[in-house]
Amino acid sequence: MSWTCHGSNNASMVAALKRAGIVRSSAVEEAMTAVDRGRFVPQGQAPYQDAPQPLGFGATISAPHMHAMCLELLAEHIRPGARVLDVGSGSGYLTLVFAHMAGREPGARVVGVEHIRELVDSSLEASRGVAWAADMLRDDCLRLLQGDGTAGYPEWAPFDVIHVGAAAACVPPALLAQLAPGGRLVVPVGPEGGPQHLTLVDKDEGGRVSARREMGVMYVPLTSEEAQRGKAALMAAWSRGAAPATDQDGSPRENATR
Ligand code: SAH
Repeated sequence: MSWTCHGSNNASMVAALKRAGIVRSSAVEEAMTAVDRGRFVPQGQAPYQDAPQPLGFGATISAPHMHAMCLELLAEHIRPGARVLDVGSGSGYLTLVFAHMAGREPGARVVGVEHIRELVDSSLEASRGVAWAADMLRDDCLRLLQGDGTAGYPEWAPFDVIHVGAAAACVPPALLAQLAPGGRLVVPVGPEGGPQHLTLVDKDEGGRVSARREMGVMYVPLTSEEAQRGKAALMAAWSRGAAPATDQDGSPRENATR
């Protein structure tokens, strides 16, 4: 299905996702149309291909179909004025789509937490080039911050929606604690390299938690900054043909393939 959802520009990419039945709601269609993925993918790559693209530092921007699937799983919870936390915000693309959905209604708070400073800086630069996002950043209802996402973001908790863009060994307890009653959390769970499952966690109004597995996925790991930078440096050396003798897994890891 999804591998044919390529576009030659943002509009045709969204149209292809809609034809494939992956984009289903007008809320997701409008928000994906409002945020040009091309701004968030490094120069020289193919932003509108339905594939993950490397961002450097061991990070990837997820494939459009994966973003769309996560957005549809969360759409009903991202009403105008919602509080949204995006852990591992990477390129900043998905955080901006969330921000467009939550809008500038009173109470809206959208925050992306990413541990690689260079990615935070480029996500901020790209976002400032989008007029409404620049306004939200200025009004302080949108933040793109450096930090360890496993700790969540207590300052703006509780959140109606929490999205985790990297695979965790288990649902991070701090994130569960920061999920509002009635809220929804989406997180890929499983070891690096798989098997991983996109896991949907709902907290009801009484605070009871239920979880279900949505689908098999392949994401980069939710890890420490040090481990991620170390592995990225090793892979860069390996691709230059200068890898030290090691039995570490040097295979490229792509986020968000199914
Ligand atoms: N949703 C992002 C996904 C980026 S890939 C996008 O589509 O652009 C996953 C991201 O998680 C990477 O940028 C990686 O640096 C980040 N990450 C991994 N572990 C993290 C942690 N503990 N805290 C914050 N960010 C983390």
